[in-house]
Amino acid sequence: MTTRYRVEYALKTHRRDQFIEWIKGLLAVPFVLYSQPHGVFEYPPSSPELGTSPPGSPNPILIKAREEAHRRYAEILHDVELMIDDHIAHQNDPDNPFPSKLKLLVPSIGPFFTRLPLEAAFKFQDRKRYISSRRFVSPSFNDVRLILNSAQLISVTSTTPGSTLQLATFDGDVTLYDDGQSLEPTSPVIPRLLDLLRKNIKIGIVTAAGYTSADRYYARLHGLLDSIATSVDLTPVQKRSVIIMGGEANYLFQFDPASEHLLSPVPRSEWLTAEMLLWDDRDITQLLDIAEAALADCIETLNLPAVLMRKDRAVGIIPSSPHIRIPRESLEETVLCVQKILELSSAGRSKKVPFCAFNGGNDVFVDIGDKSWGVTVCQRWFRDPETGRPIRGENTLHVGDQFLSAGANDFRARSVGTTAWIASPAETVELLDELGELMGKKMS
Ligand code: IMP
Ligand code: MG
Repeated sequence: MTTRYRVEYALKTHRRDQFIEWIKGLLAVPFVLYSQPHGVFEYPPSSPELGTSPPGSPNPILIKAREEAHRRYAEILHDVELMIDDHIAHQNDPDNPFPSKLKLLVPSIGPFFTRLPLEAAFKFQDRKRYISSRRFVSPSFNDVRLILNSAQLISVTSTTPGSTLQLATFDGDVTLYDDGQSLEPTSPVIPRLLDLLRKNIKIGIVTAAGYTSADRYYARLHGLLDSIATSVDLTPVQKRSVIIMGGEANYLFQFDPASEHLLSPVPRSEWLTAEMLLWDDRDITQLLDIAEAALADCIETLNLPAVLMRKDRAVGIIPSSPHIRIPRESLEETVLCVQKILELSSAGRSKKVPFCAFNGGNDVFVDIGDKSWGVTVCQRWFRDPETGRPIRGENTLHVGDQFLSAGANDFRARSVGTTAWIASPAETVELLDELGELMGKKMS
């Protein structure tokens, strides 16, 4: 998992985690000043202020410390929330040449499609994770990541006009199923996805896994596809509200109960955007040739136990046998090296064809396009039911695991819609339960 330990890089430009680290730093201050770890030993407490409590009753020093920490964490997150509001006002005002305060403090900060109710999200996560009750472990990167996810969910389900969730897109590996595995019929994710369809939310599975035929996607997603096919309460329209965008933005399949593998391929002419139509096959081949040569060099230089895999819209390296683990440092080095070579090549400098080089956990791939294009295609395919226009960023939520490691292919979706960063399929289940609860509240 990407968040457990870090690799140091020569190039820092791709670091996407600065906002989380910055919030973590703000929360560390009250933790250090008020955490009162000694309260754990002082029982029964001898505090003159609080008196002595009878054995078996809660330790008042710890209760007070928890309340104090909770209040201060909530205040800080409230202040950050206001800073984000100010940032949104700046980004929506083309006449204002000055950066927002948040942009000055966190230069890598991107656009926001919605407000982020961080204080409410913190209170929710504090009830679940007991962040304020901890006296020895300060608010962590994962705590903040989950608070941001909750804030995003509250926002896309809020009652503010125009802020309803219409499209949920999901990464495949690590998000819906374990890395390299498939969505089996017993997966707890499946009933939650069906529940979204029941609520008329469109679903796009936007995966880097690039296959040209439906049988390969059926093999990975059969649990979900079979459940949709046999569902008796989903309407035909709801059933057709599932698409698979494969190879980041290269192959589109629609759920089709009449087809052998429950998916029918949609010809590119029906979904390529105007910009994508300009991607010339010769430029694509040239880019992939350069990537292939660079990957071959990395296999040689780093003595990687890996082999090349060339596809029509991607090239990658995979372990030379399924049981081999390629060291994380080698994978990251390969991504950064290939990415730089591509960026500096004449094909890369011309910027005619976008590409995405990323570390897939035990492989490295360079794909044509990236998930920002993949999610854009989903937004255009389904369209806003009221306006007939593409679904907007504030009505889209992309759920994925790759926001930090080199290339971070899910992070690319951040430029076209709201995102939630999960670390395992179990976290996706929790996130969908939280979403279902919030949507239920809104409807009742
Ligand atoms: P995702 O997490 O659903 O985006 O899937 C990423 C994984 O799909 C990669 O780590 C690879 O193991 C696998 N994969 C299979 N084919 C391709 C391809 O053509 N491009 C990129 N990844 C691929
Ligand atoms: Mg993934």
